[in-house]
Amino acid sequence: MVDVHATGLTLWVVENRIAMKRSQGIGSIDKTSRRVLIRIDTDAGVCGYGEAAPWAVFSGTVESAVSGLARYFWPHVKGARVADIPKIIKACERAAVGHPEAKAAIEVALYDIVGKAAGLPIYQLLGGKARDRIPLSFSLANPDLAADLKLADAMYAEGVRIFKIKTGFMEHRDDLKRVETIRTNLPGDVDLRIDYNQGLDAFGAVAKLRDMETFRLTFIEQPVRADQWTAMAELTRRVETPILADESVFDPATAQHAVFERIADAFSVKIMKAGGLVNARAIATIAEQAGLPCYGGTLWEGAIALNAGAHLIAATGTISLGCEFYMPRYVFAPEELEAPLDLRDGYVYPAEGPGLGIEVDEDVIARTAIDTLSLN
Ligand code: MG
Repeated sequence: MVDVHATGLTLWVVENRIAMKRSQGIGSIDKTSRRVLIRIDTDAGVCGYGEAAPWAVFSGTVESAVSGLARYFWPHVKGARVADIPKIIKACERAAVGHPEAKAAIEVALYDIVGKAAGLPIYQLLGGKARDRIPLSFSLANPDLAADLKLADAMYAEGVRIFKIKTGFMEHRDDLKRVETIRTNLPGDVDLRIDYNQGLDAFGAVAKLRDMETFRLTFIEQPVRADQWTAMAELTRRVETPILADESVFDPATAQHAVFERIADAFSVKIMKAGGLVNARAIATIAEQAGLPCYGGTLWEGAIALNAGAHLIAATGTISLGCEFYMPRYVFAPEELEAPLDLRDGYVYPAEGPGLGIEVDEDVIARTAIDTLSLN
């Protein structure tokens, strides 16, 4: 029905100023962050947008995303019938391993095109809505605690009820004091979580996490290193607060192993880790079968990637722990946003228009781009 073929790829490397200081335990970013945006053009005049937002310490580099897209994947997209998304993605997977962010960018752009051509939003292409809106989780990661408390108050007033505190980048007793201060300063209905970003040594981790349990946390995210699966499983067994795996679970294959070895009670799903919407959905399905809920995580993603994520979560019931899609609004400089993200009253709403459902401002992209490439 959608007989449209890909004819051209435009790729921008954009650099955004970071308006808010963040300390994430690893790979802290305090000045700028780089992402790759793409536009795929077609012979029907419809175009689709995608985004690859790698984080060097987490998933990959901007440079590898660029070469993946331009050199390895575009030749398999060029000329292809856009509606045959699984066929195109399979060809990309055969062309190069890894590069999940580049694969996500292509897949999202193809869904954007198909949705526009069919007049349907991406959440509808994924089966339809399981929920109308997604609770927003805001991450408190400013090394300046007073600034974070003030910010948390303002976010609470806006309707945000979920906060995630980045731990593991200071001494354990300082982490405890920080979590306690935030817990006592925020109203009692706040859903609080913590995220170590792999920051704890496995040695002694049980006792440290048990100390944290007094703060009524909904989950503790990725306490130890991604590859320390035995330690993750041990913590999951011995700590009552649910453990959430982020860096340990990238794709459906690791999700399946993680279920077998029960290394966590919940997973963080990110299209940048999984390599797109379909793989992210598969992780959620594996988790659902095992009775594990999922959380909508993000890297340093802008509005194109996060709108894609909002479509995914709207259509996927088991991603039920909210999402952390606040970056474009609260971390990037506002005048550098290439597209809107519908974020209000503490919720993220999937866009209602066809495809991604957003208007992308290429003037903004031209202003923030440090590199541009056009291929056909
Ligand atoms: Mg995380």
